This record gives sequence, C-alpha cells and structure tokens, in this order.
Amino acid sequence: MRDTAAGPRLLLRRLRELMAEPLEPQARLDRIVHHIALNMVAEVCSLYVLRADSVLELYATEGLNPGAVHLAQLRLGEGLVGTIAASARALNLSEAQKHPAFAYLPETGEEIYNSFLGVPVLRAGRTLGVLVVQNRTMRQYREDEVEALETTAMVIAEMIASGDLSRLTRPGLELDLSRPVTMRGMSFNEGVGLGHVVLHEPRIVVTNLFNEDSDEELVRLEGALSSLRLSIDDMLSRREVAFEGEHREVLEAYRMFANDRGWVRRLEEAIRNGLTAEAAVEKVQSDMRARMMHMTDPYLRERMSDFDDLANRLLRMLLGHGPEALANSLPRDAILVARSMGAAELLDYPRDKLRGLVLEEGAITSHVVIVARAMGIPVAGQMKGAVSMSEKGDAVIVDGDDGVVHLRPQSDVEAAYAEKVRFRARRQELFRELRKRPSVTKDGEHIDLMMNAGLAVDLPQLAESGAAGIGLFRTELQFMVASTFPRAEAQERLYRDVLDAARDKAVTFRTIDIGGDKVLPYFKGAAQEENPALGWRAVRLTLDRPGLLRTQVRALLKAAGGRELRIMLPMVTEISEIRQAREIIDKEVRHLSRFAHHLPTKLKLGAMIEVPSLLWQLEELMAVVDFVSVGSNDLFQFVTATDRGNTQLAGRFDPISVPFLRLLRQIVRAGEKTGTPVTLCGELAGRPVSAMALLGIGYRSISMSPAAIGPVKAMLTELPLDALAARMHETLDAPSSEVDVRAMLHAFAEEHDIPL
Ligand code: PEP
Ligand code: MG
Repeated sequence: MRDTAAGPRLLLRRLRELMAEPLEPQARLDRIVHHIALNMVAEVCSLYVLRADSVLELYATEGLNPGAVHLAQLRLGEGLVGTIAASARALNLSEAQKHPAFAYLPETGEEIYNSFLGVPVLRAGRTLGVLVVQNRTMRQYREDEVEALETTAMVIAEMIASGDLSRLTRPGLELDLSRPVTMRGMSFNEGVGLGHVVLHEPRIVVTNLFNEDSDEELVRLEGALSSLRLSIDDMLSRREVAFEGEHREVLEAYRMFANDRGWVRRLEEAIRNGLTAEAAVEKVQSDMRARMMHMTDPYLRERMSDFDDLANRLLRMLLGHGPEALANSLPRDAILVARSMGAAELLDYPRDKLRGLVLEEGAITSHVVIVARAMGIPVAGQMKGAVSMSEKGDAVIVDGDDGVVHLRPQSDVEAAYAEKVRFRARRQELFRELRKRPSVTKDGEHIDLMMNAGLAVDLPQLAESGAAGIGLFRTELQFMVASTFPRAEAQERLYRDVLDAARDKAVTFRTIDIGGDKVLPYFKGAAQEENPALGWRAVRLTLDRPGLLRTQVRALLKAAGGRELRIMLPMVTEISEIRQAREIIDKEVRHLSRFAHHLPTKLKLGAMIEVPSLLWQLEELMAVVDFVSVGSNDLFQFVTATDRGNTQLAGRFDPISVPFLRLLRQIVRAGEKTGTPVTLCGELAGRPVSAMALLGIGYRSISMSPAAIGPVKAMLTELPLDALAARMHETLDAPSSEVDVRAMLHAFAEEHDIPL
C-alpha cells in the first residue's frame, strides 16, 4: 500500500525548517510556495491573503508571473479564489476555466493551467486567505492531496496570525486579521466600556504544530479522547440537580460528539499528515467552524458551540492546561468576551479591572447579566461570533446602551466613544458631589431617595450613591445566582451583611419573588405554565411551599437580632395572603423566642402593590400592613396587559400618562388617609422625568437603582415642588385623557431650569 501521508509529512518537516530560519517574510513566503509546489508536483502554488478591505491580494507565487505579486487581487466572492474565501470551502477542479466563477487575471499568466485546487487559510473559524495549486494537465486532485494542502494552510494561518506578514502590508491595505468589526446584538446593561479583549475561556493557542512520530500522536489522541469520554460520562452519572434539564441535554450532545466517528477520523488523518494531536484538533475544529459560520439554523449553530467547547476540553486534556490564573493576567481595562458565563465566574474577576462584558448568548434575565448589572458593568449580548472574531488583547468598545460592540475600532470611532465615557465620568463626578447634599426640593420638601439591591456586590453602593436606605432588597437574586437552594446559614449571612452595611439606614427585605421570568433552574416545582407572569409565583408560591418562607423568615429574624426588621411581600393579590404570611412569621417569632434567640427590636410587614385587584381594597390593605410599596414594573404590566419583557411593545404605552398617574395618585392618597407610608420601587422611580411626575402627585419616598440616585437628586434639588404639584393635579383632574403629560413635564423643566 502506498503511504499517502509520506509526502505531507516531508513537506511539513520542510516548512518547520523554513519557519525557524532567519528569513525576511517575503523570502520565507516565496520558499514556502516553492516547496509546496515541489512536494505536490504542481506547476503553480500561490498564496492570496485577505486584506481588511475584503480584497484578496496575491502575496507569493511559484509558477505564475512573479511581477503579479502584491498586484493581482480579487474581491471576496470574486473568481475562484474569492469564492473559496467567501465560502470557506475548498475547490477541486480539473478544468478551472469552465467553472462559472472563474475570473481571468491577465497579469498572472495562469490561462495555461487547467486543474486547480484551492483551500481556505483558516484560523479559529475565520478565513485569512487562500492557498492554491495548479497543473497544466486536466486532473482531479486526490482526497489526500486536498487534506495535505489544508494542513499546510494551517501552518500559513499561524504565520499570518503571528503578525509575520505585517511588514509586507502597505498603509491602508492591512490584513483582515486587524479589520475593524462592528457587531450588533442586544443591550443587556447600559453603559459604555473601552478596553481590551480578555477571552473568558482563553482559546488554547497551539504552538507545537509538527509531530515527530504520527503513531505516538495517535496514541496521545486516543488517550485524551478516552479521558474526555470518561469525564462526560462521569458528569452525566452524577445526579446533581445542576446537571438536570438543559445542562443534561448539552452533556448528552457532548457525549454524542465525543464518539462521533467522522470527527475522530478527521483528527487521525490530520495526525497522519504530520500534525501534533493538538494541532489536529485545532485544524479540524477550524475547518468545521468556518463551514458552520454560514449556517443560519439556530439549533445547528448551538450544537457547533457545543462542539467548540468539546474541542477546547480536548485541547486542555492534551496540553494539561487548567483555567488561566485570572487576576494577574488581566489588563486594567478588561472587556470579557464569552459565549456564556456563570454568575459565579464573573464574580471571580476583580471588579476594578472590568470595563465591560460581551456575550454571544444570554438574555437580560440571565444570572450573569443580573450580577453584571449589580456590578455596574456595561453588557452587550447576543453577539454571534464574538468569541471567534476576537483575539486576546484586541481593542474593543462595548456600547451597552445600544447593544453594539466595536472590535478593533477605527480611531474616529474610538475617539467618539472616549468622549462619551469622559462626559459620563464628568456627570458621575457631579453626582458624587451631590451625594452629601440633603435630598430636598428647591422649596424645602424632603424626599427619601432609596436604592434597590439584591446581592452583596450592591452594598458598597449604599455609601457611594448617598441612598437613604434600601427600599427594595430583592432576596430572590441570591437564589437566582446559586446552583442549588441557598442554605439557611447562607441566607442569614447575606441578610446580616446587608444590615451591617446599612448601619442605621432602613432596609426592606422582600421575600423571594420567584416564578414568572425569575426562574430557578434547580427548582422543579411548577408545571410548564401557559402564562408564567400570571402564574404560580412570588407570595403565591411561598404560601404553597411554606417551608421556603419559614426558612427565609427565620434567617431574617436571626440576622436582624437587636435591630429593626422590615419584610415585604411581593405580588399580593388579596388581603388574606397577608394574614397567612403573618401567621407564618408570628410562628417563627414564637419559635425563636422559645429558644431565647436575640429577636429584632421591631418588625414591620409591608406589601407590594403590583396586582391591580389591590386598588379596590386599598384602605383595607393599609389597615393590615405597616407600609406599602408600589411595584410599578408589574403594576403597569398588569394594568395595561403588556408583557414587561416584550421588546416589541416597549415604549408603546407610557406610564407617564393620565390614567396611570391617576392610579398612582390614588395609592398615595389612600396612604395619607390611613397614615400608611407609601413608596414606589419600580423603574419609574429611577428616571428623572418620571421621578418628577411621582413627586408631583405626592410621593415622598422612592427607591431605584443606585446609579439613578445622582440624576434624580440633581433634578429634585432644582424642583419647585408646590408649583409642579399644582400643575400635575390640574392636568390629572382635567376631563381630557389625551394630554401629553410627558411633554408638559419637559416644558416645566425647561421653564425652571431643571436638569432632566
Ligand atoms: C416591580 O414589579 O416594579 C418591582 C419592583 O419588582 P420586580 O421588578 O422585582 O418584579
Ligand atoms: Mg414585581
């Protein structure tokens, strides 16, 4: 039997020697194409490199007119070479001229060659160029020849990626590798970050490409594959809750891929051609990624990402790499780029070095996004291909406001964003100065500006924002970022930390508000619900599962020993729910006092007003609670029958409108009548214009994200509240419901020089 791999192995050995020689880049390229032609018995071998302007430029040739080097060029998609680059697929033709895409370049003198084999030069799924061999005779190249040329192309890809060719480029005609890319996805958290790429799961860079002994490498590959399969089986057999559901599906897919004969065969073939096992993994993966880039089926793309992960695992097994040490290797302006990430993983990075986060996947409700928001990091998500397009250390801008990422931005884009960041920083500085100023309107009315929180990472904001207290502590966040139910001790510890950090400032703990869009992957309580927003959630769920509520209440009571404790119930629909919750709380109090626990000095119980049914029993409600807080996000969603997460409907209905403001005013008035403190803790409180409306209709305490406190305070210190209140009441009492209240507020602000 003919050893079809002997040729490629020899060639790779020769290329390795060439790479090591101290040659000028052009001379090195010239020799490389010469040796490829020689080895493959081809009359021509040419290398085209993709430039940033999407043009493929002839960089070296053996056989074509040498005068055409750096002159002959084809656009992406043009001619055979352009077609190969655009499709990331090889072309193997016995009569090149007959191919519909054939384009004749007179300067090259290639018309005398009939057969043509071209392969893309790929790296991490990106096309960097095209490598071509040609012969006069009409022949079809064999499968092993195609494979050999692809393997060679990989070596060239590494050479291009190493920057070796940058000395051959002319100004304005740089290589594609440094091309600026703008990606559009979704905004997951606002803010703008400028910095440099840090790949969350660093791609393992394979530097050792050529093998000494193929048999030895095949044994290494086999060993790594068996360990990989074992580790997947091991994960699957652990019946941990974290591996149920979606996780399990992913693992099942991994197992299927790890046993895929086609994959293994391609890996073995690449090794037989002279690559090391790790270079073979890289090559096969790169080919596959490039082909899948053009796929639109989301299911297949998802599976491709699984395959990517699997290849990375295999590389780690082969190279014995652990996850990179984080903090030390991080630049001061790190922008994390990840396919997806766990919340806990994000917390492992030092906050002071993070400027932004780019995710290929995720949703606004993903745990990592919740945590990033709490940490105040701009996040852009749904950025397809972000990982494979980014190189460690690339300059990058995350525009979390618009959900856009600029990779390797041009200097004018960078300058514009840098100005935006400076502008924000100046505003932030102004707000910081406001922090110590009293929160009083121009005409002397005191307003309580509270902050919303939910995680330990929020706590430093209490001092930094100058908030008067925590008006809403969303206890479910601790549950959402965990992989199993947080134990009673962990809950107690968090609540104690919160109260310690708050010192004498009030904190309102809301009992867990799960269900709806706040899902706990490890909690399998609910059946598939048709309408989760209207379903088994929040206080409904905790009253049905009193064990959950009891544990939480006990943790709260213990943590608040010797100080005031404020507990608030979410999604209350009828008054009996408050009675039932109070019974559970009272029972816990009795239990703890029996065991001589240090109890809170005062216990206040409140309800959120976010379900419309409460609006027709406000006074009865207020008779049984110590305070109420309007959850305007949910209340608006239920009053207007508009899903709060539906982007298509976002902005369609305005809460700053006569009916909704009348309703909010009705709640404040009921509070005044019954002597019940009323606050509002939805997103409305955090925007200066809507906060102004709230103050105008009588709210004196509002709770918002910490970042909103500065802008709201800047507004209210300039606000003549009495004049505004008169204007608001006049508007809301007028019979017309078509008044543009928002425009009225802007005009008022303009008139009185109020910053909005
Ligand atoms: C609300 O609904 O307005 C609210 C504050 O609660 P959440 O946003 O957590 O549902
Ligand atoms: Mg709510």
